[in-house]
Amino acid sequence: MTLLELNDVSVFYGRIQAIHNMSFSVEQGEIVSLIGANGAGKTTTMKTISGLLNPSSGSITFEGADITKMKAHIRVVQGISQAPEGRGIFPGMTVAENLDMGAFGRADKTGMDADLDRVFDLFPRLKERQKQLGGTMSGGEQQMLAIGRALMSNPKLLLLDEPSMGLAPQFIRQIFSIISEINKQGTTVLLVEQNANQALARADRAFVLETGAITQRGTGKELLANPAIKEAYLGVA
Ligand code: ATP
Repeated sequence: MTLLELNDVSVFYGRIQAIHNMSFSVEQGEIVSLIGANGAGKTTTMKTISGLLNPSSGSITFEGADITKMKAHIRVVQGISQAPEGRGIFPGMTVAENLDMGAFGRADKTGMDADLDRVFDLFPRLKERQKQLGGTMSGGEQQMLAIGRALMSNPKLLLLDEPSMGLAPQFIRQIFSIISEINKQGTTVLLVEQNANQALARADRAFVLETGAITQRGTGKELLANPAIKEAYLGVA
C-alpha cells in the first residue's frame, strides 16, 4: 500500500525555487532514503512533508487522503512524525519531559506507556538518563532523544533528517541499526542523509536529489553499485 505520495511538488523560498516538480512515493513498511549534497533540497522536502513548509503547486497524499493543506500538528495526529535536523530537542527540559512533548495531545495512556517502553528498549541510555537535562546530553544521545521523541506520537511514517550528522563512527553504526530495528517493528521510515553509504545500504529504495529535483531512483543496492553515485556521494572514484 502506498503510504505517502508527492505529486509534482514545487516549493519556493520567496522567489527562490528549492524544489522542482518533485514526485515520489513511499510504500508502507519501507525504508526510503533521499541522498544529496548540501543545499540539494533534502530538508526542504522533509519540512514540506511534515507541513512546516507549503508547496506552491503539486499535492501530497497520505494513506490516499490529500494532506497538501493540512496543518503540521494535524499531520502528527494522522501519523507523520519528524525528528528534525540539528536534533531540535528542548535543552532546558529533562529527557523524560522531552519524550512527553512527543506525545503531546495524546490521551491513550496505555498506548503512551507502551510507546515509552518501546523507546526505552531501543535507547536504554534514555531510560538511564530520564532526569538529565536534554541540553547536557552528548550529541549522539540528543540524536537518540530526538528520534525517541518522534516515536512518542506512534507514527506510521517517521521522517529522519540527517540522523547521523555530527556523530562519531560508532554512534553512526548504532543509529542506523536502530533505524532498521524501528522499521522492523512496523514503522515506515523516510530518511534524508549525507552519509550516503549507510543510507543506501539500509534502504529498500532511494532517490538522489540534485538542486531540488530527483535525478536518480532505484533500490538501495542499485544506487550503491552505481559508479556515478559512488564517485559523487560515496567518496570512491
Ligand atoms: P543541507 O544538507 O546543507 O542541509 P539540504 O539538501 O537539506 O541541504 P535545503 O536546506 O532543503 O537543502 O535547501 C535547499 C535550497 O533552499 C538551498 O539552496 C538553500 O539555500 C535554500 N533555502 C533553504 N532554506 C531557505 C530559507 N529559509 N530562505 C531562502 N532559501 C532557503
